[in-house]
Formats: sequence, C-alpha cells, structure tokens
Amino acid sequence: LTDEAQAVLDEIDEKDVGFLRLQFTDILGTVKNVAVPADQAEKAFTDGIYFDGSSIEGFVRIQESDMRLIPDASTFAVLPWRNFDDGASARMICDVYNTSTGEPFEGDPRYVLRRAIDRAEEMGYDINFAPEPEFFLFEEDEDGRATTDTGDQGGYFDLAPKDLASDVRRDIIYGLEDMGFEIEASHHEVARGQHEINFEYDDALTTADNVGTFRTVVRAIAAQHDLHATFMPKPIPKINGSGMHTHMSLFKDGENAFHDEDDEFNLSETAHSYLAGVLEHAPAITAVADPTVNSYKRLVPGYEAPVYIAWSDRNRSALIRKPAARVPAASRIEARFPDPSCNPYLAFAALIHAGLDGIEKGLEAPDPIRENIYEFDESKREEYGIETLPSNLGEAVEALEEDEVVMNALGDHIGEKFVEAKSQEFEEYLVDVSDWELDRYLETF
Ligand code: GLN
Ligand code: MG
Ligand code: MG
Ligand code: MG
Repeated sequence: LTDEAQAVLDEIDEKDVGFLRLQFTDILGTVKNVAVPADQAEKAFTDGIYFDGSSIEGFVRIQESDMRLIPDASTFAVLPWRNFDDGASARMICDVYNTSTGEPFEGDPRYVLRRAIDRAEEMGYDINFAPEPEFFLFEEDEDGRATTDTGDQGGYFDLAPKDLASDVRRDIIYGLEDMGFEIEASHHEVARGQHEINFEYDDALTTADNVGTFRTVVRAIAAQHDLHATFMPKPIPKINGSGMHTHMSLFKDGENAFHDEDDEFNLSETAHSYLAGVLEHAPAITAVADPTVNSYKRLVPGYEAPVYIAWSDRNRSALIRKPAARVPAASRIEARFPDPSCNPYLAFAALIHAGLDGIEKGLEAPDPIRENIYEFDESKREEYGIETLPSNLGEAVEALEEDEVVMNALGDHIGEKFVEAKSQEFEEYLVDVSDWELDRYLETF
C-alpha cells in the first residue's frame, strides 16, 4: 500500500466510515457508484473491485463486461450529506482497468484526460484548469418533481432579501468545503434562480474530478431544501443559460508559460498558439463541451454566451476571453463556450489536445475582437474572418467527426460511442414535436 492509501484506511477507521462509494463516470459524464463495505478498502487498493461494465452507457460490449475499479486515494472524501448515526459514507474516484489485459480501459473518460495531460507533460507543461459552473435552483412540485419555478427574482449579485436562495447556497458551500473544496466566490447570476460558485483552480485531472463532485454536492444539498438544482444549459428560454466557463493556463518549470510581460495582452507566444489551436478546433470541441440538444439553445446571441469563433481581451461575447490578471501566475485564457452538461474529462481533454496542437504547429492567433460581436452583421463577420459555432448538436457532431485532432483526443473507443450516442440523441430530437410547434400551429391550421 502507498502512504496515501494507508492514510485513507486510517481515516476510514477514525471517522467510522461504514460504506465506500467507488465512483467513475460513463461517457456522458454521469457519475456512477459501486458501493462496498469500507472493510473492502484495502482490497480495492491492492486488487481493485470488479464490476459488470456492460450495463454502463457506452462502456463495453457484453462479452467484455468485467471491469476493474482501482480507487485514486487522493480523492477520498467523507460525504457530508450522508453522515448517519450508523456510520459515515465516503467516496473515492476510480480509474477503470480492463480485467483481461490489465491495461487502463480506453472507455474510461478519466483515462482520456490522463492521456491529454501526459501529452502536455511530454511537452514540458503542467496544466491548470478552473471552471465556473452555473446552475439554476428550481422548486419541486407536490410530487417532488422538478419545475422551472424559481421562487426567486434576484439578479446578478443581488443581495437578500431578494436572493431567497442564499441560505441554500451557503449550505451548498459548507457541503463543498466539507468535501475539500476551496471556494473563492459565489454569487447570484444574471438570470432569476441562477447561481454560480467558483472554486479554486487545480491541475486538470483534479479539476475534472471536482466538477463531478460539485454537481453531486449541489444537487444533494439543494434536494435537502426541497429544491432541484439543474445544470441543464438553457432551462428557460429568453433569459441567460448556464455556462461552465473554463480558465486554462500552462506552467513550465513552475513558471506560468502563458504569461509574457512584454506582450500587449500579457500573453506569451505559447498562449497565443494554444488559443489559436482552441479556436481552430472549436466547432469539434463544441460537440464535447456542449453535448446536448439544449446546449445550442444557450449558444445564441444576446445572453453572454458565445456564438462566434473569436477571442477578446475585453468583451464577453467572444468564445475565448483573456481575463485581467493581477499577477503573472494568474495569466490565463477563459474558454466561454463549455456548458455544465458536459463530461468534464472529455471536454478538458478536447481543449488540451486542441491547444497543444496549436503550440506544436506554431499557430498564430488572430487579432482580438474588441467590439460586441453579437452586433456584427454577416458582412462584418466576413471582413473580420469570424466563423460561427455549430448551431445545433447535429452540426457539432459532424464537425467532430471531421476533426482528427479532437477525435484522437477522445480515442477510438469513446470517439465512436460518443458520435453514435449524440447522433441518436439529435435524431430523436428532430422527429419530436415540441410544445412550441403545438402552440404555434395546432389551432392556426
Ligand atoms: N450565463 C452566461 C453563459 O451562458 C455567462 C454569464 C457570466 O458569467 N457573465 O455563459
Ligand atoms: Mg464568473
Ligand atoms: Mg458566470
Ligand atoms: Mg467567467
């Protein structure tokens, strides 16, 4: 056993943990659990825990269904909302292995991100990520089902008493802190019922783990208050949707490789090339970072979400923004297109590979756009050479299939399953008849 694993066993004893939830995610980013009695922890570290992967979305075919979970000791956390008298529950996030080959399972999204991080490491870079997941808090109906009523009319940075949900948000923050999060800020977002909680940046893998944990904690604690927390990107039309802006920087030998004092934007050549790589592959990344039919209802003009493929050091209509940084270590770029319905492992991997590709090819970033791009007409966009993001999931999946860099980022197994699942999702949507259509046409024709 490693020291870290031994420390986990000690903590299990100390905190009287009765059950361990071993977690991993499927291709869609849903957190899956296998619960084992805590006395299995040692065996989990040494041999792993076997489970049947055939029932997990996109994981394996039936004939290769036995998978092995090996917990990552650094992810041990006692679950604050399941602290019962008869013993606590804790979780650990696992890597998935193939039982027959003993190799990492290529259908494991965490492994996809590990590969991206390895590529960066080979190039001499450590990667830091910080996401800003937004979400809505909705009331439940008498049957406990989610509605889209907010019971709250607050707006951006509004204070109580308008912000009725601030108590809930406070409890969510306590829950996150209990799980080891360092919370930097939280505020009511622009839309009614919409919130954002920012946590401290970390290496890309830890941050992706954190996004999964964040969504779980937010939902669990909201539920304790009889509220439904949703990370659906656009639950209510004509007001802001929920994004998951993702801040990124590369470090080399402990120094921020994105920072250059002499550059007009304080961005290094490395940062410019990384940014150019992300812009170049943006349509394909969108399929992964904005992976639902509903994602594309958010990516429309007028709601602080990007639509056009451009970057800016000023305005928030751009796909990538360079936020002001007080110290060199904080120089970073912010991708504004991901939304919180994405699988963070896959989305981060796609962003990293696209950025590294830009660095390897020495791509040059275009000039930043300082005007509000929402107000550009087509001829102005043409003049500036600004392309548009895919306007629906179908177009995004097509862009993904044509993009070798992003497909390679996902790997054969996940790439194929992802395209299959998302094409099917889009087709189902296309043949559906929506409420909008009924409202508009049923009585007119
Ligand atoms: N909700 C906006 C989005 O969809 C972002 C708003 C903000 O953080 N300023 O990305
Ligand atoms: Mg923010
Ligand atoms: Mg925000
Ligand atoms: Mg932001």
